[in-house]
Amino acid sequence: MIIYDSYDAREKEFAPVNENEVRMYVCGLTPYDRMHIGHLRTYVFFDVVRRYFEHLGYDVNYVQNITDVEDKVFNRAAEMGIHPLELTEKNMKKAIEEMDALNIKRPTMFQKVSDNIPAIISLTKKIIENGYAYESANDVYFSVLKFRDYGGLSKQKVDELVSGARVEPGEKKHNPLDFVLWKHSKEKEVVFDSPWGVGRPGWHIECSAISSKYLGETIDIHGGGRDLIFPHHENETAQSEAATGKKFVNYWMHTGFLTINGEKMSKSLNNFVTAGDVIGKYTPTVIRWYLLTRHYRSPIDFSFEVLDETGKHVEKMMNALEFARVAMERSSGTDRSIEGEVAAQKVLFHKAMNEDFNTANAFVAVNEIIRIINKGLNSRDVYKESLRNAVDELIGLLGITGISIELNKDDEYEGMLEGICREYKVGMEDGLFAAVEELLSIRETMRKEKRYADADKIRRALVESRIIVEDVGGVSLWRRG
Ligand code: AMP
Ligand code: ZN
Repeated sequence: MIIYDSYDAREKEFAPVNENEVRMYVCGLTPYDRMHIGHLRTYVFFDVVRRYFEHLGYDVNYVQNITDVEDKVFNRAAEMGIHPLELTEKNMKKAIEEMDALNIKRPTMFQKVSDNIPAIISLTKKIIENGYAYESANDVYFSVLKFRDYGGLSKQKVDELVSGARVEPGEKKHNPLDFVLWKHSKEKEVVFDSPWGVGRPGWHIECSAISSKYLGETIDIHGGGRDLIFPHHENETAQSEAATGKKFVNYWMHTGFLTINGEKMSKSLNNFVTAGDVIGKYTPTVIRWYLLTRHYRSPIDFSFEVLDETGKHVEKMMNALEFARVAMERSSGTDRSIEGEVAAQKVLFHKAMNEDFNTANAFVAVNEIIRIINKGLNSRDVYKESLRNAVDELIGLLGITGISIELNKDDEYEGMLEGICREYKVGMEDGLFAAVEELLSIRETMRKEKRYADADKIRRALVESRIIVEDVGGVSLWRRG
């Protein structure tokens, strides 16, 4: 398994800290507003990382924070006239429902900043003790110049950063590059006692504290969108390593932006399409397919048109799987050649996933298997178990990416066909397949006898029961639609 580590800026063989275990942390939401599709891109991708490791047999311990103590939260709550934690609670509940709807497995734990203040305070104390931070008029700042490796993740030189840095009014830093660990706050509703007086944590310290408390001082994977590389992840690294003297993260993984008209989708730019908007319009399969068919480090420019196209593609696949069910029941062929072709694509799927979770290439293999299934549908010679195997493999591989395929269930259709079956004395005892096949053969006989009105009645009954009869590559097949 190879992972591109943003810190070392190269692909590296994955070696976990503990055998068979993956400890991963992904920066979570600041829930002052609704989740958008840009967030989903990041969370769907890390869900796939987690699922793939689990597929390989690793125990995955996956922590995500919830930034419920933050200026944007306070400002929005004040505008709305509600308590900040009520706002974050409400938005987070909705976000989790939306993640569930998209089949994003819940992290092993979500941790709120407001529940982790003691860990944040003790980490801040340790950084001060180690000489990397100082108190200044009830604030605590990290001394960037003391930390030798500062800029390592974002590949920036401290001298260059200094020239661009400035001190904001009200800040009491010794150096413009220093960043806040603890901030004196007059905010009435959400402040905490600390050795430095009442206040609240700075943004970056929460992730260092939560990550080390629940996953240990050195973790395997830390993820987030690439907007977080600087300053957030740079500062997290500095804080954690200043506190422990150990390497903080072995593999930094960053997702590319989801953009809209070329601009990063974000709450603050107010150019976002909410998760709810897309979940209401497209199935989880379509949304995940859309997000996963690009490489995670490349940007995706959001487009409803491409989502629509993805929807059509997925629909065609579902139809092929439904047709395959009938084709395999009918088949008496012995040609097993598609088995080898499917196996080759399965190898390519895993190869792509093992090469830095290249879901774009993994989906090329998935699409090839769909093509092979379609080819099987058109062939009278294909061995039925080979077709069944192709369908099972496809469903299995999609399952690894969190796409769960559910074919239609027979019972509903059986109910709808009851009337016409009774009329033509077709029994349902042998199930839907046998009944529909018998109805179609009765219809065929009627057509041969030129009893077109009767034949048409059967066709109409099938259509009303959403049994779709179509010629697929010269073979007449039907599916549950
Ligand atoms: P936020 O709530 O803005 O702090 O973001 C939560 C997570 O979503 C972070 O990992 C961000 O990097 C990620 N994220 C936010 N916007 C986007 C976007 N447009 N594309 C990809 N990831 C994003
Ligand atoms: Zn973070």
